[in-house]
Amino acid sequence: MQLPYKVATLIYGFNKAGDVLLLERALEPNKGLWSPFGGKLHVAEGESPHACAIREAREEAGLDLAPSDLHLVGVVSESGYQGTAHWLMFLFEVLPPLRELPPAHREGRFAFVPLARLPELPLPSTDREQIWPLFFAHRGGFFAAHGACRDDGAAEWSVLESRPSHEPDAPGPSPGHEAAGPHAVIDRVSDEFFMGEALRQAVRAHAADEVPVGCVITRGNRVIARASNQVEVLQDATAHAEMLAISQAQQVVGDWRLGQCTLYVTKEPCPMCAGAIVHARLQRVVFGAHDPKGGAAGGAMNLLQFPTLNHRCAITPGVREPECRHLLRSFFKEQRARKQQGRVEPCETTPPVTDEPTRNGDGPRPD
Ligand SMILES: [Zn+2]
Repeated sequence: MQLPYKVATLIYGFNKAGDVLLLERALEPNKGLWSPFGGKLHVAEGESPHACAIREAREEAGLDLAPSDLHLVGVVSESGYQGTAHWLMFLFEVLPPLRELPPAHREGRFAFVPLARLPELPLPSTDREQIWPLFFAHRGGFFAAHGACRDDGAAEWSVLESRPSHEPDAPGPSPGHEAAGPHAVIDRVSDEFFMGEALRQAVRAHAADEVPVGCVITRGNRVIARASNQVEVLQDATAHAEMLAISQAQQVVGDWRLGQCTLYVTKEPCPMCAGAIVHARLQRVVFGAHDPKGGAAGGAMNLLQFPTLNHRCAITPGVREPECRHLLRSFFKEQRARKQQGRVEPCETTPPVTDEPTRNGDGPRPD
């Protein structure tokens, strides 16, 4: 079909609680629907997708971003949309957490929406059915998808490229590189920021069919170790993200004592990891999702602050918990779906998988 090609960027920003910044559209064609902000690329000027995203973020949300603040999560093309145009869309995530809600403007009003509330919101149907699931499965990674619109208005979608994980040392905002100026709305040294780095590791685990738990260890606002859960790939019950990260950090520091370090993990540590954390004398532990059944940082027990042990850690719980929990839930949901489709051999000794983190740490299986 001979139609013009229109190019646009969509920008996904999140606050420190992990809520996504959405715009309730005030204008047709999407009036009343919620979507990320963004806009058309200045084709005639030869604008790059990143330059377009930076311009749109400035114009629509008052954000002052650098190219390194953006991650290109996906490229979506849609041919013959409504019989009027082909569309090419670049989906960017803003890496640093947003600090302020932008004011309303001509396109609509902004809100930070908890991820758990997304299903209740009026969303464009393509967003609901195709874009959001792809986006969440590829945060920190990359995908390319194409929708071929049929005459009846529906589209047939195909995923052309899918890299759910993030490279371990992929460029992110460098710690300590603070946004300057009175209108700085982003940060790079907060617990929320480093939990974002741990979340990237959890996404890697998810991509590798591991229970999605990720961990980073920092010293002086620098990440010195990153690891994701690797129990399945290593066939090692001790290969929890925290255990792997602690070993890495000890190598980097050149000492088994990590007294100046903070450990960030997306799920409350299990007793094994809490034990290792105490032995390594980490100063502080920051975790995302609570684990009331098996957590050893106050959930089921508190080994990190056990009175008779010779070291106790400071604990900061619940940082970016909705995202951490969402990742775990979607993983277990997929596992259940696979089981129902018979792709995973049912095993009588495998307990029912719950939505919640299990009592034995990172795995869905006992012990
Ligand atoms: Zn563990």
